Amino acid sequence: KLDTRAGFRRDDELGEVAEAFDEMAGRITHLLRSQKELLANVSHELRTPLARIRVALDVASEGDAATAREMLSDITEDLSELERLVEDVLTTARLDLSTGGTLAGTPPLRLEHVDTRALVDKAVSRFRANRPGHRLEVDLDATLPALEADPVLLRRVLDNLLDNAGKYSEPGTTVRLLARVDGPGLRFEVADEGIGIDAGDLARVGTPFFRTDRSRARKSGGVGLGLALARRIVDAHGGTLALESRPGGGTTARITLPASAVP
Ligand code: ADP
Repeated sequence: KLDTRAGFRRDDELGEVAEAFDEMAGRITHLLRSQKELLANVSHELRTPLARIRVALDVASEGDAATAREMLSDITEDLSELERLVEDVLTTARLDLSTGGTLAGTPPLRLEHVDTRALVDKAVSRFRANRPGHRLEVDLDATLPALEADPVLLRRVLDNLLDNAGKYSEPGTTVRLLARVDGPGLRFEVADEGIGIDAGDLARVGTPFFRTDRSRARKSGGVGLGLALARRIVDAHGGTLALESRPGGGTTARITLPASAVP
């Protein structure tokens, strides 16, 4: 019955043990490979904003007040990118520990009673501080039900979606954040007027490390972890995350959280 990688076939207990070992070895190999990939991508993405910050500081220290202000705003943007990268890596590590590095399976949630409006407010303040050049329209139902959710992970979802909306659109354009009561659950939408995602890429966006060619051409980077994390987190809460996009015309990310997550 068994055809193990060790090259022998056995139906008995030894065969089962061998099979279990093979499976474990496969998982460890997978884990090591994904850790290596993560490290390579992250190191690269750390270097780029750090190098830009150094240059901006040099320019600021030798320029006039207006130049310094401009450099400070660039530095703020790079710092927010670094912050997000660190958060995503930490969250990946936390979720990875439970799934053998596969970024699959259900992560354990630290469920709490979450004040939805307070959660949204924090994400909004963060976006406004990081992207002062964007207009942010916030459209919330007057009363939003509380969530039974992992507040740290849900913050990552909102922050990542808002970060993407800001990162893949131009300053001066509008980002919309919407939160609605949706049946017994909740619906969040984050919409931008940015570069969009080609139809052919839409299905692959959200696969760890996948980035579209459109986004690679931009100044700000990313490793392609944020959406994969967001999707896993929403899935773990029993919800859905869907993307809609018009290439060149903007992207909308829509999250639903079901009744079970909303007491
Ligand atoms: P990253 O850190 O690279 O932004 P994400 O996992 O958050 O990683 O997103 C994966 C990829 O999906 C991005 O690199 C980008 O190509 C694409 N993407 C995500 N959000 C948007 C958006 N709002 N507009 C256009 N492209 C997007």
